[in-house]
Amino acid sequence: MGAALKLMRREPAVPIAGCTDVYVSLNFGTLAAARFLDLSQLAPLRRITVRGDTLVIGATATYTSIIRSAHVRRRLPMLVAAAREIGGPQIQNRGTLGGNIANGSPAGDSPPVLAAAEAVVVLASADGDRRVPFADYYTGYRASVKRADELIVAVEVPPVEGAQWFRKVGTRAAQAISKIVMAGVRSAAPRLALGSVAPTVVRLPRTEAALAAGAPIAEAQRVLGDEIRPIDDIRSTSAYRRRVAANLLARFWADTA
Ligand SMILES: Cc1cc2nc3c(=O)[nH]c(=O)nc-3n(C[C@H](O)[C@H](O)[C@H](O)COP(=O)(O)OP(=O)(O)OC[C@H]3O[C@@H](n4cnc5c(N)ncnc54)[C@H](O)[C@@H]3O)c2cc1C
Repeated sequence: MGAALKLMRREPAVPIAGCTDVYVSLNFGTLAAARFLDLSQLAPLRRITVRGDTLVIGATATYTSIIRSAHVRRRLPMLVAAAREIGGPQIQNRGTLGGNIANGSPAGDSPPVLAAAEAVVVLASADGDRRVPFADYYTGYRASVKRADELIVAVEVPPVEGAQWFRKVGTRAAQAISKIVMAGVRSAAPRLALGSVAPTVVRLPRTEAALAAGAPIAEAQRVLGDEIRPIDDIRSTSAYRRRVAANLLARFWADTA
């Protein structure tokens, strides 16, 4: 690990894990990099453990290992639900949580879960580790606080109190990028996060406050409508995303009642 971090400091390279995003970029000619650093052989980065009361998921843990992990199933079932819907088995066998975070797509399926779980991203460099709350990780469209010489090494998830919920809406049930994706935690202070409605994943503090105050669901849906600014793009329209976001909110509330 130390050697990898020194190399990243000396002559920064593009880190690669499962390569499920990197190969697509190479195929489309949108990635010009010539130097790569393969993280897949660094065993500590693959581990999923519990430290104290914190779930620690190594950055190169694959979706398949997340689905199979008793720790994740018990503590963060909404991440297991998300992992089951990412790509198909081939992508789940290779794709990693760290790769999904680093790729930074606003349509990625794990970021809403990590936002709702109030996870922490652990970044490492030759100088040591630093911990960034997930809410502060992204700074804009596919942009983050991670420096070029840093690697994501793990995600730390504190205990999550309350019922967890995840739903992805895409063109098909499998192998589809999300048109909209929501994760939620039902507790006295409900937490909600949405993907594909903004340049980055977003928490919904005003909608959360309305639910916490006991607002009827129709009122919470109205607040949500004011709080998000989805766009028209190749995958969907703003109007469709608004309607589906409101429907998902009602479904979250009914399913976790
Ligand atoms: C057919 C197909 C279907 C897909 N379906 C979905 C889907 O349903 N939902 C979804 O969210 N995504 C989907 N994806 C996207 C992709 O599989 C995920 O984003 C996956 O988690 C990427 O992980 P990886 O290990 O393959 O990343 P890689 O391709 O290896 O890397 C992706 C990016 O992250 C960087 N990186 C990787 N690991 C680290 C690290 N530890 N530290 C710093 N930077 C790092 C790389 O430099 C690169 O920029 C799909 C992709 C394909 C090809």
